[in-house]
Amino acid sequence: MLEIILIPALKDNYIWLGINRELAEVFIVDPGEAAPVLAYLREHSLKPIAILVTHKHWDHTGGIEELVSRYPDLQVYAHALENVSSVTHHVKDGEVFKLSMWPEPFTVIHIPGHTLGHVAYYAKPLLFSGDTLFCAGCGRVFEGTAEQMLASLERLAALPDDTQVYCGHEYTQNNLRFAVQVEPENADIAKRYEAVVNLRSSGKPAVPSDMRLERLTNPFLRCKQNVAKFRELREWKDRF
Ligand SMILES: [Zn+2]
Repeated sequence: MLEIILIPALKDNYIWLGINRELAEVFIVDPGEAAPVLAYLREHSLKPIAILVTHKHWDHTGGIEELVSRYPDLQVYAHALENVSSVTHHVKDGEVFKLSMWPEPFTVIHIPGHTLGHVAYYAKPLLFSGDTLFCAGCGRVFEGTAEQMLASLERLAALPDDTQVYCGHEYTQNNLRFAVQVEPENADIAKRYEAVVNLRSSGKPAVPSDMRLERLTNPFLRCKQNVAKFRELREWKDRF
């Protein structure tokens, strides 16, 4: 009765819906646009309860205003540093909150780097990681420092093996093409790259993945707290 649904949006954004079919209620993660979400809600007669915002960038927030105007009771969660409009709940690191329609509580993990108020939402075993941890990669360091970004990634990497990583973009194939260059000898990366090429060529998403696989194949989770190595990799990937 519980389900996570993917709504592709904009160029390569992923909006995630957590659906409780029994209650016909939904939470929405990072609605970069409203139209495809509204269409899905209408088609399946679902009511949105909450919007969880990982960070302020327009491609994660562009749909909030319209959704809130259609559903004025919507709760909107984001970190105060992100200045997201329509927010009803400012979240902070370590905070745990409950949505009535979802059995597991959500833990807020403040992960600065991509932006200063970026957060992830963890509701065992689901992790909504926004633009910080991507499948097989990580986001650009726009506002924070390399030190902050690496520390943020390592906090996420400490979550259990079976954590399901739901990120904000489908960059997986390109990320693995990069990972193969970084670690040409890594058989897990080679295997995952091949699997993802197959998935993508048949039009399927390569998200989510699990944290065990990320630790084996995501070069940015393999820096062993070495900031110089992380910075070098991130700069290489920026030019890749
Ligand atoms: Zn972003």
